[in-house]
Parts: sequence; C-alpha cells; structure tokens
Amino acid sequence: MKEVLQLVRKNIRELTPYSTARDEYKGSIGVFLDANENPYNNDYNRYPDPTQQQLKEQVAAIKHVPTEQLFIGNGSDEAIDLCYRIFAEPREDNAVMIAPSYGMYKVAAAINDIEVRQVQLNPDFSLPVEKLLAAVDEHTKLLFLCSPNNPTGNAFPREQLLDIVCRFQGIVVVDEAYIDFSEQSSLLDVLPDNPNLIILQTLSKAWGMAGLRLGLAFAAPEIMQLFASVKYPYNINVAAMRLASELLRRNVAMEVIELKRERVRVAYRLKSMPTILEVYPSDANFVLVRVENARALYNELINHEVIVRDRSTVIGCNDCLRITIGTPKENERMLEIIENFKS
Ligand SMILES: *Cc1c(COP(=O)(O)O)cnc(C)c1O
Repeated sequence: MKEVLQLVRKNIRELTPYSTARDEYKGSIGVFLDANENPYNNDYNRYPDPTQQQLKEQVAAIKHVPTEQLFIGNGSDEAIDLCYRIFAEPREDNAVMIAPSYGMYKVAAAINDIEVRQVQLNPDFSLPVEKLLAAVDEHTKLLFLCSPNNPTGNAFPREQLLDIVCRFQGIVVVDEAYIDFSEQSSLLDVLPDNPNLIILQTLSKAWGMAGLRLGLAFAAPEIMQLFASVKYPYNINVAAMRLASELLRRNVAMEVIELKRERVRVAYRLKSMPTILEVYPSDANFVLVRVENARALYNELINHEVIVRDRSTVIGCNDCLRITIGTPKENERMLEIIENFKS
C-alpha cells in the first residue's frame, strides 16, 4: 500500500486552507467582533462551527467511531466530489466503478474531468472482482463500490469488498447509503486496518433526513483532514445541524424494521404477478423488478399518480423499474395498480 499522501493531487498536498475566524479563536463565550456578523441575535446571525464538533460527536457515538475518522458533508454528493478533487488529477487520472450503480460517481468524475472506467456487474449482479482489478492502471486513483448497490439492491459479500481494498493500490470508496437495511454488516470495523478505505453513509435514507442534506464519510484521520481542508469552510449550516441533532435523538429502528418487513411483503406480492418477470433480492429500501415493458408499466403507474424510477436505460437493467418501499398504504396502492395492469 502506497502512503495515502502520495495519492493526493499535488495542488491539494500544497494547499494552505482558508482559516476562518472560528478556527483562530475556539471559545464560545465572549464578545465576538471577529467575523463581521450582525451582532443582533436571531438564532442564525452567527456563522456555524466549520468543524461541526457537536454534531460529529453525536454521529460518532452512534457509529462507534472517533470523530477524527468522520466527515460530514452537504449530502454524500459533497463527499463523492471531494474524493475526486483530493485524489484525481484532471485529464490524467481515472476512476474505476461498477455498472450499473449510483449515477453521481460518473457525474462528479465528468465535472472534475476524470476518465471513468465502468466494469459491468455479472448478469446476476454479483461483483466481477478480477475484472475490476484488471481495469486498474497506474493512473487509477479511485475505485467506487456501492453496497448495497443502487439500483440493483444487492449487497456484495464482505470478503470480496475487503479483497479489493487489500489488492488495489489506490483509494477504495465503499458507499453504504443503504447499510441500515442490509443483513450485511458495515465495513466501519475494518477502517483502522485500511488507510486507503473511504466509507460513505448518509442521513438521507434510514435516518429520514434527505431534506437536510447530510452525508457522512469515514476514513483514516489523514484523509479526513484532507476533506476538512478542501471542503467549503461552512458546508453545513446552523439550521441543518440543529435539526439533525434533534432527529438523531429519536429511535429509527422501528421504522427500519417496518420497511424491511414491507420489503419482504412487496417482493412476495410482486413475484405472484404475471407482468413481473423478476424481483431481484434487495438489501435496501427498494426493490428492482424486471417487467415485460417497463415504460408501459411506468406510465400506467404515473397515470395513477404513483411514481417509481424507470431504470430501463441503465446498463444491465433493460425493462427494470426501481420501486422504493413506502408506507404499507402506499405500497398497497402501487401493488394494486400493477396487479390490475394488462400489458
Ligand atoms: C441515496 C444515495 C446516497 C445519498 O445521497 P445524499 O446526497 O447523502 O442524499 C448516496 N449513495 C447512494 C448510492 C444513494 O443511493
């Protein structure tokens, strides 16, 4: 394994980060005449803590990691973009990723002018480990994996993910956005042994805070320091931090259990329907189904004001729809429309 710092872009290695007023003085009481804020209190007149210390402590306790191994971003999208901005030299380096998978890895690569090398999953959506490693060359800085994978729904065996982390000489990003719905365990426990591993999670899915835009990244402290220097200083606003802090105190376990139970029920019902050719196994809060004519069924659902995601143009997903698990009532409405649909 190369030293992580050797993988970092030269301009980032040499960066002098912006120093905020609150970086220079960290106390919380006093007369603050350092940041050109309006002094009249309205609960939002002060800049947020750029290190998000309080929220980090709360998340770190829930995830059983030290705060030094945690980054909080404006959605996972910020963390994905930072991976490119920190590690990949535009027009020189490349990133390897699976297909089909989450679209943002590719979009963020394009924005950063980084070549993408997509390796198609096996027909049963399992991980082509050797093909992925064969796609790597000396300019491959990042390898993106998503487990459970969006849009296929399956989680990859932990041994395979770890095999790639051990054998690839660059940064492996494992996106665990759906890990709370999975029977597979998170890779968080192996972080201390793998300095080239970045794990992404989010408060958007199981935690129910998609509207607050809070993505999480976990990695060795050296990588998290790079994230801290390259991010916008005040990437998380005061309102989002306060609301998240409140919402993190509630127990979402019951909601997750209910969604997993509904996932089983929805899959079982769908399997009995003639229009449904295949229901793929899911470790996430959605199911991917293959149907006879995805566009026709999609339109039928839309006509009944039920919106699902048409994934039929995605590599390996011909005639596939991705259906998010909703409340039992919402799911029932979706199931009835599909049941009554004659293609
Ligand atoms: C939904 C999702 C995310 C979460 O994105 P946010 O920007 O944190 O809302 C991340 N990765 C994958 C694969 C997803 O499906």
